[in-house]
Amino acid sequence: MEADRRTPLAGGLCTQATSADDGSVDTIVIGAGVVGLAVARALAQTGREVLVIERANTIGTGTSSRNSEIIHAGIYYPPGSLKAKLCMEGRERLYAYCRERGVPHKRLGKLLVATEEDECRS
Ligand SMILES: Cc1cc2nc3c(=O)[nH]c(=O)nc-3n(C[C@H](O)[C@H](O)[C@H](O)COP(=O)(O)OP(=O)(O)OC[C@H]3O[C@@H](n4cnc5c(N)ncnc54)[C@H](O)[C@@H]3O)c2cc1C
Repeated sequence: MEADRRTPLAGGLCTQATSADDGSVDTIVIGAGVVGLAVARALAQTGREVLVIERANTIGTGTSSRNSEIIHAGIYYPPGSLKAKLCMEGRERLYAYCRERGVPHKRLGKLLVATEEDECRS
């Protein structure tokens, strides 16, 4: 029987996770920030074996741990652009994720103040 070579890190990540005799895995994700972890989760949910490689001691210690904690509404992107669409879809999915798992969050809304006449039309 093959020895378990996995060494768990915070959040269930493993420093090594190999299944095939040659040490190969289906997918490797480099970087365990919010993007890498989300990609890894999505891939794992399709049944793939995923290895996440992170250079820091644990997950989410880069930019992801230092942001302003705002769930963006997509208002800064051109209307109809891919960024705006993804931002709005991501926002709803993130709210749903937080609701389902009891992650505390506040939906405060945003007040935009026009400082120029032509900004009043947008
Ligand atoms: C000041 C600031 C405020 C922000 N505020 C918000 C906000 O309020 N709301 C919002 O939605 N977004 C915000 N953002 C943007 C958001 O934080 C980033 O878009 C997001 O965290 C990026 O995640 P990431 O996984 O791509 O990068 P990171 O969190 O940086 O993760 C990348 C990971 O890859 C690892 N890595 C890099 N190279 C290697 C390598 N060669 N081998 C192994 N590991 C490697 C790093 O150690 C790191 O852990 C903010 C950004 C900044 C800078």
